Amino acid sequence: MSEKIQLRLGMSVAERIEYMRQEGIAYTINGKKIESMTRLWGKGPEGVRCGDCVQFVTQNYHDGRFFKCRLYGITRGAGTDWRKKWPACGKFTER
Ligand code: SF4
Repeated sequence: MSEKIQLRLGMSVAERIEYMRQEGIAYTINGKKIESMTRLWGKGPEGVRCGDCVQFVTQNYHDGRFFKCRLYGITRGAGTDWRKKWPACGKFTER
């Protein structure tokens, strides 16, 4: 049996997926990543978007510019690409 994962900031993507599996929370991928964050941390303030959050960052690589959420996790793949317009999760912190 795998070790019980505790919910905390700075979890790796693998830890978050395992946490959600253990807690029976549906894990969603591409296009629904923000739903995974909302299920973990709750909803952010009404009308507020990820683009205004301190965790929302820009990464430059592969001759491109990509948006990421530091709390969700950063990789160089599309699986962690983020959108400014997505509704904020409960860990929203104004920049
Ligand atoms: S509100 Fe901030 S922490 Fe939450 S998903 Fe958006 S960028 Fe990430």
